Amino acid sequence: MKTVLLWRKGVRVLHEQKEWYGLGYHSMPNGRSYIYIRCPFCGAEVKAYIWSLAGSGKKCDGCNAQFASFGMAFKVIEKSKRKKNEM
Ligand SMILES: [Zn+2]
Repeated sequence: MKTVLLWRKGVRVLHEQKEWYGLGYHSMPNGRSYIYIRCPFCGAEVKAYIWSLAGSGKKCDGCNAQFASFGMAFKVIEKSKRKKNEM
């Protein structure tokens, strides 16, 4: 299991990282192109607009994992409020 540690507003957030799978890219006019993503955590098919992937990312409808534009999905597995300087 590959894990990634991030800090968000003083909260330590441990993520599991997996690659997501593109199920098909659909090119649409006016920036409305989208892709279907297979969630590597729960197997759901999620429709994601390219602009939303490139921005803050797209959340899985099934398990709340976060899909990023570079092909990785992140799922929170642990949160703790310990501050950085207490580590
Ligand atoms: Zn999912």
